[in-house]
Amino acid sequence: MSSRFVIAGTGAARGMALGRARLVQPSQIRVDERPLAESEIEAEVERLRLALQQAREELKTLREKLHGALAREVGEFIDAHNLILDDPELTEGLYALIRKGHYRAGTALKMQRDRLAAAFEAIDDPYFRSRREDIDHVIGRVQAVLNRDTTPAERQIASRVGTLLVGDTIAPAEVAHLTEHGVLGLVTTGGSSLSHSAILARSLRLPMVVGAREALERLTDEDLLLIDGGSGEIVVHPTAQDLARYRQFQREQARSLDQLARFKHAPSQTSDGVHIHLYANAEMPADLAQARACGAEGVGLYRTEFLFLQRRELPDEEEQFTTYRNVVLAMGGAPVTIRTLDLGADKADATGLALAAEPNPALGVRGVRLTLRRPAVFAAQLRAILRASAFGPMRILVPMVTSAQEIRDVRALIQDCARDLRSTGHEIADHYELGAMIEVPAAAIALPALIRHLDFIAIGTNDLTQYLLAADRNNDALGELYDPLHPAVLKLLAQIIATGARANKPVTLCGELAADAHCTPLLLALGLSGFSMHPSSLLEVRQAIAACDRARLRRLAPRLLRAQTRAGIERVLASVG
Ligand code: PEP
Ligand code: MG
Repeated sequence: MSSRFVIAGTGAARGMALGRARLVQPSQIRVDERPLAESEIEAEVERLRLALQQAREELKTLREKLHGALAREVGEFIDAHNLILDDPELTEGLYALIRKGHYRAGTALKMQRDRLAAAFEAIDDPYFRSRREDIDHVIGRVQAVLNRDTTPAERQIASRVGTLLVGDTIAPAEVAHLTEHGVLGLVTTGGSSLSHSAILARSLRLPMVVGAREALERLTDEDLLLIDGGSGEIVVHPTAQDLARYRQFQREQARSLDQLARFKHAPSQTSDGVHIHLYANAEMPADLAQARACGAEGVGLYRTEFLFLQRRELPDEEEQFTTYRNVVLAMGGAPVTIRTLDLGADKADATGLALAAEPNPALGVRGVRLTLRRPAVFAAQLRAILRASAFGPMRILVPMVTSAQEIRDVRALIQDCARDLRSTGHEIADHYELGAMIEVPAAAIALPALIRHLDFIAIGTNDLTQYLLAADRNNDALGELYDPLHPAVLKLLAQIIATGARANKPVTLCGELAADAHCTPLLLALGLSGFSMHPSSLLEVRQAIAACDRARLRRLAPRLLRAQTRAGIERVLASVG
């Protein structure tokens, strides 16, 4: 009888999901290392024999379920896995470890895995490295059978639901592929809700829990889980009551979507009649449809790096042009802000463009620092963006800007590309706007000098917070320190917004802070009038805006900037009622 327990983590992408656990790092399964007594040996050999048999059965069932092209592709893997399971060297080695070494089956599997891994590690050949992964998967499957603690009823539910991926970390590039493979949600032992993987999970509407430290130790493949990406709770072996709660959640979600729906076509306006610009952040085509449905004024941030992350070869100019043009067309004449490639830091690509081996990647050759060093790659992207500009209003946004020289260099490159395109008969818009992400503290502080080189600015609070507070946005151990409402961040935000207003240049905030409806009054108080966020938050923020009296909030700004804590900020805001 499996018994319910709960693992705590931090919610990173809202929503609940019910699914079967799929462990990404099965090698980390904790095994019982106590030696066997002589009298236990034969029973343990039998336990392993049955687990191997069960693993074979599972592979057979899996193979029977596959059809078409998938059957060919995945079928090869399954055959390879079957061969490993039948390999006498592996199985005899396992039985010998139990009989002669008095190891339990789990420990024997782990030892065989480590031995084979070391042998494969020594061979510098990609084919053998992938064979090593096969061995990991096969041994993980047998371990899972050994550790399985599910009731038949639970297995029946599990067979009908998709999978929840559980790992130490899940790279943004992996996240992008997941929904295509029936993954319903994500759990990581580390990570943070500010990571690009979490941003992408929100974009894909995949509930995600991060910082669930015990997850890999306590979970077994195929365990039935109910995860809550809001509260960060992971219920293992959920009871009928939990499942009822899940159904209730689904009903409530449908209801609150209904309620918010009335804000779909409402103006983005404060109670005292000030228009606030609401734009969408987008990574995926589905985001664009949602952006339009929720009445976004345009796209405030299109993260192009995700086009580069999912593959081994760089997308060429043509492919990029098609993608950007489709974004522009999907937005039906509303302005689109395409951000140039922001690879580096936690977004290392498979093409080898980002220097993954840098000692300090978040402070390294990232964003515009990288693209300016790769002018051919940069030019292909800029040309694609310029060509897409013929189809609708276009803004070009440059990430990780630190100095005016970088902006001048980018502008010069754009001008070269534009000249070239025109001279070869390509149609491009007469007008485009060039802006910078303000996310490096130096750029924020020196903004009065930088801004004359720019047509608009976009504040990247995700990075600005990490760089200003020297707190890695991906490190959950710094969760408390990483606070976008820290007085230093708020002070700098107020300065950036004021500098933009003085120069008469549009300012939007496109970090995750913009999507937090609790922070909407605070940001309005600081003078912000442009927000860009994932479309799933647009209606909530529009609702929050409608409840705000901007003039009264603006008067609170000096007091808000003096507040030292979140509670202090709340108190000041509460005073407007
Ligand atoms: C930011 O840094 O706030 C931002 C919007 O960009 P990204 O999260 O892609 O770094
Ligand atoms: Mg950033």
